[in-house]
Amino acid sequence: MTLDGLINKLISAGIEKSEAKKEISILLKELGENNLNKIETIVNERVKSRTPLQYLLGKAYFMDFEVRVDKRVLIPRPETEILVEETIRRMGMPRYVLDIGTGSGIISIALAKSIPNINIVAIDIEKDIINLAYENAKNNKVENKIKFLVCDIFSNNADDLFKENKFDLVISNPPYIQSGKYGPRSIPAQPERKHEPKIALYGTKENKTGMIYYERIVELCLSGSMPATLAFEIDPYLVNDLKSLLKKYDLNNFEIIKDYSGLDRCLFVFL
Ligand code: GLN
Repeated sequence: MTLDGLINKLISAGIEKSEAKKEISILLKELGENNLNKIETIVNERVKSRTPLQYLLGKAYFMDFEVRVDKRVLIPRPETEILVEETIRRMGMPRYVLDIGTGSGIISIALAKSIPNINIVAIDIEKDIINLAYENAKNNKVENKIKFLVCDIFSNNADDLFKENKFDLVISNPPYIQSGKYGPRSIPAQPERKHEPKIALYGTKENKTGMIYYERIVELCLSGSMPATLAFEIDPYLVNDLKSLLKKYDLNNFEIIKDYSGLDRCLFVFL
């Protein structure tokens, strides 16, 4: 089949034209023109199951580096690049960092790659996830700057982590999608998202809005020795709830940053 034929195959499966073209050019770059059969096999699988291309290739790009991804972790989003860039812009060179819900490890790896002398603790809820994040850090040669731990933020271990460490920066892209649906105000669920881990999108607890994660993290920060800055990726529809949360804890020094679509996407709280 020709390249145009493959693009059309993706389009007739409901994938947008610009996305279809982008995916074929990624496949060409990854597999080479001599591997059209392999490319066609992947396109067929893509059309059949709507498995995201990154899972089919087993890799994704974030900022200027590559990570391994599979169904254990979310596929890196461009919005999270904004979180990292804006954090560095605001904080310069944080020294002690906690990354909550590290997933594939992208936030920690990006910080470790651009900041010398940084010490990061990166946590996630399952050993399986932490193993993948570690592997990605190792492949990017920053594993010596990041300590990976299995830790549930709702457990006492998380309280201990905050008692035993003094972080300058706590950064997180927690699960923030309304449980089980995307809500009337939100964009329609893409079939690709069904392949991503539910705990990374919706969380594991009774999580109607995602707010319980932000609230728990704020509480942890206020209970231990406080970090200077908190950096969150957020759902634009949570802005009012987040503002009320900050008000409740008397945190008046904060900033909200928009993403490329003009939606509120990052929240910085200066403690
Ligand atoms: N931005 C992701 C999405 O819209 C969600 C990421 C998250 O829940 N932390 O699919």
